[in-house]
Amino acid sequence: RAKEQGGRQICFFTDAMGRELIERHRLERDLKLALARCELSLHYQPIVNLKSGQPLGFECLLRWQPAEQGFISPATFIPIAESSGLIRSLGAWVIEMACRQLAHWQKRGWSLYASVNVSTRQIPDGVAPDWLLQVTQNLGLAPECLVLEVTESVFATDLESVSNWLREVRALGFRVYLDDFGTGYSSLSYLKNFPLDAVKVDQVFVRDMVEQERDLALIRAILALCQELDLQVVAEGIETEVQRQRLSNLGCTYGQGYLFSRPLPVSAFEDFLQRYAP
Ligand code: C2E
Ligand code: MG
Ligand code: MG
Ligand code: MG
Repeated sequence: RAKEQGGRQICFFTDAMGRELIERHRLERDLKLALARCELSLHYQPIVNLKSGQPLGFECLLRWQPAEQGFISPATFIPIAESSGLIRSLGAWVIEMACRQLAHWQKRGWSLYASVNVSTRQIPDGVAPDWLLQVTQNLGLAPECLVLEVTESVFATDLESVSNWLREVRALGFRVYLDDFGTGYSSLSYLKNFPLDAVKVDQVFVRDMVEQERDLALIRAILALCQELDLQVVAEGIETEVQRQRLSNLGCTYGQGYLFSRPLPVSAFEDFLQRYAP
């Protein structure tokens, strides 16, 4: 009887795990076909000057909408792309698409830069410096107009190859931002030892900065630290005018968030530019 019960318990456990595994495999299989099926697109969210509200650039955010299914969040499919290795081809597509769109908008007279998210799994070979140069040169883009957003998890991998990659891409003129700053496990010494152009303060700190003294204190400390290190700061997740004002008064120059605009598809983003970009 005990055996029977035990057996049932094991069965129950593996059923749940099995379902999750099947779902994961299904997503992985569908994601593999997503590019060819044209189910992927980019949405664009302005990065603005906090004082003037003027857009200076935009972050490119990947969207997946499988046919006859709702939209699937990047929080769900990016980890699958990363663990399956698919992130290499998806990531390359994102960069090429972002650059093509940027070149198009620059030709229309909008002087902007494009910021793309790069997974740690893509570094260094998935975003080889030579390849980046080739992509931008073919489109007549200045390297300064392409920003690569990396997260603190890069510092938990092979430091030597990350450090070489960083030096090479920056020597070519590309820019590198540290995304989701403050949410990872990295030590502050990386800010000292690795060349970066800016940090993006994670939205968790911005969210409660008006109500919570402690969050405000953290933002203040991050801004002071970055000032000392000559790093620019982009605040993420700005949703209210009060947050914008506070951040701006604290010396934060750049920001991004629903207050200015949600991430938008091409034509809606062009409408935004018509209105707010000179
Ligand atoms: P992230 O790079 O930190 O991007 C910012 C996220 O915050 C985006 O979520 C954006 O829609 C959201 N956001 C922007 N403003 C606000 C705001 O005011 N309030 C709130 N609550 N949220 C705001 P999204 O588009 O769902 O992307 C989630 C994450 O998925 C990204 O975080 C990034 O880590 C990853 N991701 C997206 N596209 C790509 C990609 O092409 N490649 C890679 N490797 N990762 C990507
Ligand atoms: Mg980002
Ligand atoms: Mg972020
Ligand atoms: Mg994030």
